[in-house]
Amino acid sequence: QNLQNVALIIGVTGIVGNSLAEILSLQNTPGGPWKVYGVARRNRPAWNTNHPVHYVQCDISNPNDVALKLSPLTDVTHIFYVSWTSKSTEAQNIEVNGSMFRNVLNALISNAPNLRHVSLQTGVKHYVGPFELFGKIKANEPPFTEDLPRVNAPNFYYTQEDILFEMAQKKEGLTWFINRPQVIFGFSPYSLMNLIGTLCVYAAICKHEGVLLRFPGTKAAWECYSAASDANLIADQHVWGAVDARARNEAFNVSNGDVFRWKHLWKVLAEKFGIEEYGFVEGSSLRLSDLMKDKGGVWDEIVKKNNLQATKLEDVGDWWFADIILGMEAVLDNMNKAKEHGFLGFRDSKKSFINWIERTKAYKIVP
Ligand code: NAD
Repeated sequence: QNLQNVALIIGVTGIVGNSLAEILSLQNTPGGPWKVYGVARRNRPAWNTNHPVHYVQCDISNPNDVALKLSPLTDVTHIFYVSWTSKSTEAQNIEVNGSMFRNVLNALISNAPNLRHVSLQTGVKHYVGPFELFGKIKANEPPFTEDLPRVNAPNFYYTQEDILFEMAQKKEGLTWFINRPQVIFGFSPYSLMNLIGTLCVYAAICKHEGVLLRFPGTKAAWECYSAASDANLIADQHVWGAVDARARNEAFNVSNGDVFRWKHLWKVLAEKFGIEEYGFVEGSSLRLSDLMKDKGGVWDEIVKKNNLQATKLEDVGDWWFADIILGMEAVLDNMNKAKEHGFLGFRDSKKSFINWIERTKAYKIVP
């Protein structure tokens, strides 16, 4: 039986959801032409409307809303789960992210008879534990390979994996795929963790105030080799996972395949915002969460002056996330397993950085 593939992207306005919506809608995407549904919590934003996706506004943490809006999607064959929500403790993250994922799977397994694949995105915190325990527990040593043991600490990624394995047992023939990105370079003003968008907003504020673009991280992070994952590359890997038998029922790392240094990308960021003075300042630490705390009014001025899309600083500046990422050292992973199984995709991290800065400007999120 040759059924059309029907994708359900959960988190379609997120940093990878937005890339998946674009890539799955292309005519030459493997497994295509795909019919695509996209789910997100809020109404559809203007920057997401270019993709030919059936948009479904649904709060997946609410079982009634899920029953009402996702149960009727009876033709879905593939779920791409690229969503999460953030709570103050990992115990709460486990509770809410576990039940969101379970709500979606229960609704589709009961109502979509042709459902045959679920793709779940977690991340490299699989190898080091949740944010709240960074530096406090024994983590795996980089470079990370997929066969490393789980860290002995609570982690909503493990809960989601276990739910996935349980559901695959329940429905005969259901295959699964998991990928674990590094920090993601992509575009979404709605993302909870968008490093490039955050750095663009920080640079725009420095330019506006005529101050030095200081690197808001540690000396170690400025100097060391770092890695990232391009959102389009991650989307490509999700699609590969959905159509290639070699990827079936396996977990894979997904990163660009090169390394970079923040001191080199910082120069690129400064140039893109026309800032001449930039760099790491010895001897004092800087946290964007502190520095940007009172800049809401400045941001409103920048938005108005440059005729940008209306945004609030707290939505487009994920300061806590930048503080964590720019305080880490050499968190590298290994891409051999994906290559050995036939996924040869890669990205040049510097080009990826430039591309997403330009996209963020083109959508008038920053000047
Ligand atoms: P995101 O924050 O960019 O997007 C989340 C999406 O989920 C949005 O579309 C949002 O509308 C939707 N969503 C959230 N709560 C919802 C609800 N209750 N109902 C319906 N939709 C809801 O997501 P992301 O960063 O791609 O995260 C997906 C996974 O990737 C997470 O497990 C995250 O930890 C992991 N990850 C992210 C990064 C990163 O840099 N962003 C890096 C590594 C791993």
